[in-house]
Amino acid sequence: MDFPTHFDVIVIGGGHAGTEAALASARTGAKTLLLTHNIETLGQMSCNPAIGGIGKSHLVKEIDALDGAMARATDKGGIQFRTLNSRKGPAVRATRAQADRILYKAAVREILESQPNLDIFQQSADDLIIEGESVRGVVTQTGIRFKAKSVVLTAGTFLGGVIHIGLEHHSGGRAGDPPSIALANRLRELPFRVDRLKTGTPPRIDARSVDFSVMQEQPGDTPTPVMSYMGKLSDHPNQISCYITYTNERTHDILRSGLDRSPMYTGVIEGVGPRYCPSIEDKIMRFADKNQHQVFVEPEGLTTNELYPNGISTSLPFDIQLAAVQSIKGFENAHIVRPGYAIEYDFFNPQDLKHTLETKYMDGLYFAGQINGTTGYEEAGAQGLLAGANAALRALDKDQWYPRRDEAYIGVLVDDLITLGTSEPYRMFTSRAEYRLILREDNADLRLTEKGRELGLVGDERWQAFCEKRESIEREQQRLKETWIQPGSAEAAELAPKLKSPLSREYNLSDLLKRPELSYSDIANLKGEGVESSQVSEQVEIHNKYAGYIDRQKDEIEQMRRQENTGLPEGFDYDQVGGLSNELKAKLKDVRPETLSQASRIQGMTPAAISLLLVYLKKHQ
Ligand code: FAD
Repeated sequence: MDFPTHFDVIVIGGGHAGTEAALASARTGAKTLLLTHNIETLGQMSCNPAIGGIGKSHLVKEIDALDGAMARATDKGGIQFRTLNSRKGPAVRATRAQADRILYKAAVREILESQPNLDIFQQSADDLIIEGESVRGVVTQTGIRFKAKSVVLTAGTFLGGVIHIGLEHHSGGRAGDPPSIALANRLRELPFRVDRLKTGTPPRIDARSVDFSVMQEQPGDTPTPVMSYMGKLSDHPNQISCYITYTNERTHDILRSGLDRSPMYTGVIEGVGPRYCPSIEDKIMRFADKNQHQVFVEPEGLTTNELYPNGISTSLPFDIQLAAVQSIKGFENAHIVRPGYAIEYDFFNPQDLKHTLETKYMDGLYFAGQINGTTGYEEAGAQGLLAGANAALRALDKDQWYPRRDEAYIGVLVDDLITLGTSEPYRMFTSRAEYRLILREDNADLRLTEKGRELGLVGDERWQAFCEKRESIEREQQRLKETWIQPGSAEAAELAPKLKSPLSREYNLSDLLKRPELSYSDIANLKGEGVESSQVSEQVEIHNKYAGYIDRQKDEIEQMRRQENTGLPEGFDYDQVGGLSNELKAKLKDVRPETLSQASRIQGMTPAAISLLLVYLKKHQ
């Protein structure tokens, strides 16, 4: 049957990409349907119940700056919060939260169910309705035909999913969930380049069978960080500790003894796994000289005994998993609640996408999340938000948008995927961004919220809070510049014990803050009153302390933008450009970059080749 309501946007899949996509689409005002296998698994964390970490928290804060759900759900579900790299510079500082997976899922569902313009429907999407080169809707397992102007596909690890434990394997989307086979077959008929990737997860352990007294306790940080710019400490549930233990040589011997039944080492799994989240069997093979590996023992929630032993993801047979786990200190009597496993699934070459995440071959069809070759909830959520927003903007006949590399990690993520493609699961790191000092996790709102408001993504409550914060930063910056401290004054005397060298002349507070030995709290109330909000004082402190570096990076961005503006016309004939090697011509034809700057990031591209393109373009325009 044809479903009576026509939608602007249909999102397939209610994982991390799909929920952000559906919410973003609905926030812009588009009539949106979220179609997913099972409403009970909306926002489910397939693997480790943790959000954020280095590079990843930057994405979470950007999603938050655009009024997405992930950071707010993390504040409601987070049971241990830490600031990573707290002693390093602000560019690489990152917030990480261990989440209660039940509370996290409940928070996501609550946000979804209170979102206007959004309907949810539980059923598998088995087919797409296609007319010519445009998508027009989705057909479900029982033949219901939903019509829409745009469709966002976020099927995660489910397309053609195969689960492996030892040499046993069966079809599945993740443990306990069915795979998506009909849709995978349909997509393989379309002109997208499809390949296989794999990822894995560790066995889960019953906390009642673990001896924590021999492990190292790792409490959360004080003061406890919050994830969302709108978050409050009172949003957090009870906070608890994680623990650390280690594998040992006996563990490694046991693991080695199972390699002849490993799906990875016997060639049963062909897909490539995540380099930065390797299985324990991969680690003992790749780092054969290490006689121990760290295992973070992380609770899965406040109301469950399940523990996630982070660091021992494995697809070895169950008897090996059990013996290996029980050889680890504190796990001698461990009971495994769920076996570890690996999953192989279809992903699409992201080079077949535009920066908006619309596919190049099918108008109105957008791809987001794990199916684009990424790994991680944060990477999925960020893509989902972008794809959902653009699918909606397209359906509403508005201009689409994507952030540049110098505006957001979301921009870096999408540009990396589209320009370079990926042959292994892609995860975000701060090192992937050229302009790290500008793209900090603390200033994602200052970079993106205004744009989000313009696009219709940011609601009134966040917008008002953001405007107040921005004004407060500006006011305080101004006050620091206008407040002078004279040598010999009472204020100078108060400051003297903290100074490396005494004041030789009159200084304003802004210049004093640039001194490495002083922090905002030292100068804030020296004359007049400083701000109370830590979000505001953090910005004031960073702006003053790093002003020189930030300005230099802004100049570099300006230079880069001049090049960025040189567009490469659609259908540009690279064979006409004399002097370009055949290899580079082939790569350029493959990627079809939209600008010279994007061309410059193609692997193997040389500055000489870029100047050849520039000269050719100037001559023929
Ligand atoms: P998912 O979270 O997988 O969500 C997909 C959603 O789409 C599901 O709700 C599903 O039911 C629905 N769906 C699929 N097909 C259809 C259809 N045809 N019709 C309707 N609904 C459909 N990440 C890491 O960063 N590190 C790791 O080590 C890691 N290990 C992992 C291990 C395993 C075993 C698994 C399964 C995942 C692992 N992940 C890991 C990946 C992490 O779970 C994903 O990156 C993240 O969940 C991707 O989000 P997504 O929204 O793209 O897809």
